[in-house]
Amino acid sequence: MSLIIYNTLTRRKEPFETVEPGKVRMYVCGITAYNYFHVGNARVFVFFDVVRRYLMWCGYRVRYVQNFTDIDDKILKRAMDEGSTMQEVAERFIAAYFEDADRLNVLRADSYPRATHTIDGIQRLIHELEQQNYAYAADGDVYYAVRQFAEYGKLSGRKLEEMQAGASGRVELEDDNDKKRNPFDFALWKAAKPGEPAWESPWGAGRPGWHIECSAMVRQELGDSVDIHAGGVDLTFPHHENEIAQSEAVIGKPLARYWMHNGFVNMDGEKMSKSIGNIRLTHDLLVTYDPMAFRLFLLQAHYRKPIDFTAEGLDAAESGWRTLKDALQYHAQFAKLPGWSIDALPDLESSSVDRFNQAMDDDFNTPIALSVLFELAKDLRREGNQLIHQGNSDMPIEKLQQSWQTLKSLANVLGLEIQPASEEVALEAANGLTDAEIEVLIQQRQDARKAKNFAEGDRIRNELQEKGIT
Ligand SMILES: [Zn+2]
Repeated sequence: MSLIIYNTLTRRKEPFETVEPGKVRMYVCGITAYNYFHVGNARVFVFFDVVRRYLMWCGYRVRYVQNFTDIDDKILKRAMDEGSTMQEVAERFIAAYFEDADRLNVLRADSYPRATHTIDGIQRLIHELEQQNYAYAADGDVYYAVRQFAEYGKLSGRKLEEMQAGASGRVELEDDNDKKRNPFDFALWKAAKPGEPAWESPWGAGRPGWHIECSAMVRQELGDSVDIHAGGVDLTFPHHENEIAQSEAVIGKPLARYWMHNGFVNMDGEKMSKSIGNIRLTHDLLVTYDPMAFRLFLLQAHYRKPIDFTAEGLDAAESGWRTLKDALQYHAQFAKLPGWSIDALPDLESSSVDRFNQAMDDDFNTPIALSVLFELAKDLRREGNQLIHQGNSDMPIEKLQQSWQTLKSLANVLGLEIQPASEEVALEAANGLTDAEIEVLIQQRQDARKAKNFAEGDRIRNELQEKGIT
């Protein structure tokens, strides 16, 4: 079997074929830099990181681009509240993005374009839209005329007529509504308001709208068409619908081959929203939870289904991560066994790899892929425990090494890796011993037993037990 992907645009699973053989161009909508990102955003970054890693595992060369929206009403509001500037706020939360995403082991993108660095490209695109009658200027603003784009609504499955009928009388009354020809027209360029940052333009000083930023950044970074365009399901409408309208009107071909959207993270059964006040920030969560446990939690559900964020769910993920971590960490014990090769890596276990690939090929079924990891991890943990407590293992050394290498490789595809720095700090806090110190003690005990120095062996065992290590 080869990879099939659910395409939001066609509403079905399709075989994955790239524009250029062997190469994937991928664009993921990033954060608006006015706050730490919430756990719903974390799901986007972690899941599409897994998509990228899996495509690389399959042998594709992936160019991965994720933007920062660094000009926006929300950023301006925060700057105003704090008495700082839009730039200060954006820089702070872009730095915070990297801090938190790094802890979640999200690979760095190949490029992070920013709206404020793409003003020329944005203006060029607006100009082209205006020339082709898809856009009109009104009092320093420029709007996209949705009526002009016959396919408007094709991504979200909405029809303009039905939207208008449904919305009649209760269309959100934005202050610019009287300037629009159609209530669903949206701003490409906004005239400057006093005190706000602004750029000169053919339509007067102003700043770009949100949707046009992404169309311009895709074009600048990846060309006219990308293979995968992705984001959270809430971006389907209007953001991605509007991106399609803007880009395809000008380029005359599909903006993306595959549109991928992941489901929401709900809080204890409720939608996460400002009005309910139940938004959880990843930055806060990572104070109490291991980033890898949270990553595992996010991958335990299929990406298109909603996840319910509960304390029980996170605790279960912590214990799941402990199983994987134990198995990965037993490398320290296994590697001391005679016959464990440090030079030649064994071939991976083909039945595990096949089942893993089969699950991932089926529209990235991470819950099933994880079950393959857990099977390997449970066996390895059992062998590791036996090795520590009885000094031997039932598994032939070649098989042991092969299983361990397979687990490590597959866990890596899902981005589940032990992070050495934080690990050591956590262990030290827990028992006053670092990983390395524990290993030295275990080794000393084994040496003492081998030399039949049982008194010394028992003394070390007691010392370890006192620290809560068995
Ligand atoms: Zn976007």
